[in-house]
Amino acid sequence: MDIEALKRELDGIRIEDNPAIVQQRSRDFYWYSPVLKRQLEHVTGDLIVSPKDEAEVVRVLAACFSHGVPVTPRGTGTGNYGQAMPLSGGVVLSLAEMNEVRAIAPGRVVCGPGAILADIDRATKAHSAQELRLHPSTYNTASIGGFIAGGSGGVGSINFGGLRDFGNVIRLRVVTMEADPKVLELSGEDLHKVTHAYGTNGIITEVEMPLAAAYDWVDVIVGFDRFSDAARYGNALACQDGILTKLITPVAAPAPWLYFKRHQKFLHEGLSVVVCMVAPHALDAFRAFTRRERGKVIFDASLVEDRKGLPPAYELAWNHTTLRALRVDPSITYLQSLYPFPHQLDLVERVDGLFPEVTSHLEFVRFDGNITCFGLPLVKFTTEQRLDEIVRLYEDNGCPIFNPHRYTLEEGGMKQTDEIQLAFKRRADPQGLLNPGKMIAWENPGYDYRSGKTFLFKGLER
Ligand SMILES: Cc1cc2nc3c(=O)[nH]c(=O)nc-3n(C[C@H](O)[C@H](O)[C@H](O)COP(=O)(O)OP(=O)(O)OC[C@H]3O[C@@H](n4cnc5c(N)ncnc54)[C@H](O)[C@@H]3O)c2cc1C
Repeated sequence: MDIEALKRELDGIRIEDNPAIVQQRSRDFYWYSPVLKRQLEHVTGDLIVSPKDEAEVVRVLAACFSHGVPVTPRGTGTGNYGQAMPLSGGVVLSLAEMNEVRAIAPGRVVCGPGAILADIDRATKAHSAQELRLHPSTYNTASIGGFIAGGSGGVGSINFGGLRDFGNVIRLRVVTMEADPKVLELSGEDLHKVTHAYGTNGIITEVEMPLAAAYDWVDVIVGFDRFSDAARYGNALACQDGILTKLITPVAAPAPWLYFKRHQKFLHEGLSVVVCMVAPHALDAFRAFTRRERGKVIFDASLVEDRKGLPPAYELAWNHTTLRALRVDPSITYLQSLYPFPHQLDLVERVDGLFPEVTSHLEFVRFDGNITCFGLPLVKFTTEQRLDEIVRLYEDNGCPIFNPHRYTLEEGGMKQTDEIQLAFKRRADPQGLLNPGKMIAWENPGYDYRSGKTFLFKGLER
């Protein structure tokens, strides 16, 4: 890689080559996983390049293509699986400066890929009382482009499902990695080629997202003596079509008491909780339903005057639950599981009781029209072998694991080649220069997913 020649060619575009800063901005939240921490600790890019518009993206990609330099796109680096880490070095392409909200209309917003989710909502709320349908718990820090390319769902998925679902992304503009990069407009079925592809299939330069009516969501925490009651309540609440919620998160004791430090005065050690976000107009119905289900409201933000220092409910949920646990106990890590409908409650009870070192954490979602839950169980890490054994036992019991201790798309997902993404990559990135090492199907087409072995990207050895 002739990085000096590349730099000269990129004259006029913002570049950072201070090695300490480059290394810092070559990282994401990979360290959530002790396995990835060991594997990726040394990874760094050679250069951070920050285009300010699509024309500069095209220039950067053309120059990198001609010099054979890998390009790894980056939003704000809050991904968890080393997604945004440049395994083969080269250019880290920061899209952070392309953050403008370009247009707002009934039911839709158009913005640059670097726009921070909370900033998009601020603009759409001020314009017409609308907000994004769903967002990760990293609402205040993550970019919309990074969410689409690396995320899956989150707060709001209880109503709208995930990013993979038709209709939750309207349109993307994408630049290909070729000698003469093309700008494509993707919609409908074609979106799947680049959504959740970790930036291996093109650089997103504009997004159009659907909007929902905005509310001043009220944070409420409901307590239960037994986790199974919390899970049952969460499921029943999610099935109440008339009660508008945005988040339903059961977390088993003693995690809330140990890790939700700022809320500790409302909790006690043996309490399992369900963390909720409720629309203001649904609060009376929510309270009546909760009473009927014998839940105890232990925190209701609409009734607590001094909320200074309390994080919003969504920062107790999704992967923020793990973050809070990690801050208290660095030996904690996590898994991501699905409890398939219609047996979700039985599976939750069966699987999570199997392991002494696992504490349950569920997220209720709408999944293909049904209510079910994902799990982000907290795991006290001992060895990689034990972690693999827990994964296997979950799967043997009918709960697929989306392994957050792997950096490839396939191992973190459905463990098979995504033919649509692979076919598109042949067109959009013929030299395999976009975020190398993340798509097994590209790196090693003969890879046997049933081998049970972890895929090791050869470029990482270098
Ligand atoms: C505490 C915590 C909580 C989280 N909660 C959730 C959650 O609730 N739901 C969820 O889905 N995720 C969650 N995540 C993961 C992550 O925060 C989200 O996926 C987030 O949306 C990523 O945005 P980002 O800007 O940080 O992307 P990055 O980490 O910078 O990038 C993510 C991926 O997208 C690619 N990419 C970035 N920008 C572009 C672009 N313009 N074009 C093409 N590819 C691009 C990157 O190469 C990378 O592969 C959480 C992570 C943490 C640390």
